[in-house]
Amino acid sequence: KAKGDGRSNYRYFSPEMNANMLERIQLEQRLRRAVLQKEFCLNYQPIVTLNDHSVIGVEALIRWQDPKFGLIPPDQFIPLAEETGLIEPIGEWVLEQALIDLHSWHNKGYMINMAVNVSGRQLINGNQISFNRLISKLLKKYGIDAKYLHIEITESMLMEDREQCLHALEAIRDHGMDIYIDDFGTGYSSLSYLKSFPISVIKIDKSFVDNMLECQSDANLIKAIIMMGKSLELKLVAEGIETEEQLAFLHSLGCDFGQGYLISRPLPSYELTNLLIQRLTPTLTDEQNLEEYL
Ligand code: C2E
Ligand code: MG
Ligand code: MG
Ligand code: MG
Repeated sequence: KAKGDGRSNYRYFSPEMNANMLERIQLEQRLRRAVLQKEFCLNYQPIVTLNDHSVIGVEALIRWQDPKFGLIPPDQFIPLAEETGLIEPIGEWVLEQALIDLHSWHNKGYMINMAVNVSGRQLINGNQISFNRLISKLLKKYGIDAKYLHIEITESMLMEDREQCLHALEAIRDHGMDIYIDDFGTGYSSLSYLKSFPISVIKIDKSFVDNMLECQSDANLIKAIIMMGKSLELKLVAEGIETEEQLAFLHSLGCDFGQGYLISRPLPSYELTNLLIQRLTPTLTDEQNLEEYL
């Protein structure tokens, strides 16, 4: 094969762009198959109180178990799922699996909360009604009180589609669920902006926690977020706590909740069950629970 032969094929696309497009198309095909074959699983990361590390809830984090490539983290396929609309069936699967696992923990007497990440795409452009229907259906199916289900939506998502998100979030709130603003601090929203949404929890983005002990401006930013959150009577959760020093600092600033590798990595459901058994005393709330423990 002569060296220059293929060149005319690349008149419009560089070899690199062609490769990227091919990769993307292949990834999309594999993702479609993954949805049909349900090649996903959820890991759960505990959310704890910073004063005594007691587990108040978990965040559900999706993983894709590809037969060929192994475990693929969400950052590598959620954006594509959002672009292609595949996030809708994936999001449905996430909600149902999360509630199945929550149901089993509640049945064992661990009355924790479940925080689920939701994409804007699941809520806007007419999807809001089907989302709320789905939630009603699933809560009923698994006999779970809406107050235990929490919805996480990123700050940047709120900024993109303000009006549509507002309506969707109000419906979610009317259902009795709490709404978290995820990755807070990265989206440049203002105080007044935040006030217009029916949210109850702010999650301080990991990037600030990472640097706050070395970087004064990040420390100041965290202080400001905590003060602002408190003045709006919101709860604060710090993400990505990896050291005792970070935990102590956040606690001293008045942040009440956190999650991170220091406390626990995201775990498969059976490992989370073991963690709950070690850390929590089950509460016996009804006869069904009593029977299981007698
Ligand atoms: P997120 O919602 O901000 O989730 C927190 C991410 O930080 C998770 O990454 C978690 O594993 C990671 N993390 C937690 N503690 C630590 C720590 O101490 N150190 C470090 N280095 N990382 C920590 P993960 O699981 O890879 O998820 C990435 C993002 O993907 C999530 O960010 C969320 O935006 C998105 N995502 C995950 N699951 C879902 C889902 O079911 N639906 C949607 N729409 N998005 C999801
Ligand atoms: Mg999250
Ligand atoms: Mg986050
Ligand atoms: Mg994040």
